[in-house]
Amino acid sequence: MSQYVFETRTEEETKQLANKLAVLLQPNDVLTLEGDLGAGKTTFTKGLGAGLGVRRTINSPTFTIVKEYMGEMPLYHMDVYRLENSEEDIGFDEYFRGEGVTVVEWAHFIEAYLPKERLEIQIKRVDDETRKLIFTPLGDHFESVCKELQE
Ligand code: ADP
Ligand code: MG
Repeated sequence: MSQYVFETRTEEETKQLANKLAVLLQPNDVLTLEGDLGAGKTTFTKGLGAGLGVRRTINSPTFTIVKEYMGEMPLYHMDVYRLENSEEDIGFDEYFRGEGVTVVEWAHFIEAYLPKERLEIQIKRVDDETRKLIFTPLGDHFESVCKELQE
């Protein structure tokens, strides 16, 4: 399994990386974000939203589990942290197979529901401002997305 590693030195750089990724995405794409609290998962999603043409402010959907934003295509932003130890299916497939791009924070809590083809992104805090972002593409589409992003 190939991995693509990026390093950012500011919040802005993380947003820019996500912004650049956004343009390479298509409807139905699913991205998973893993990383400790404060790693930058929501920050990354904000950059992604900007790249998709979302105008509204993107905030953490912790209490609603999923928020939907309109851009050039919809962005479904999930934070499934609260579903830890629950088998609840809130209709994930409707989002994953919908018209938009889905981003899932803390995705391992809903591992069983995730589509096979997806882009896994792990964010690691190196120090206060430096982050390492490790991309693991699952499927050919995301493999080529990662290759393009690296150029
Ligand atoms: P999470 O959603 O993973 O809990 P957030 O995105 O809400 O994390 O918070 C990340 C925090 O880290 C923000 O306060 C942000 O300003 C800060 N930060 C510092 N450096 C970076 C960086 N390189 N990339 C992303 N966030 C950073
Ligand atoms: Mg968050």
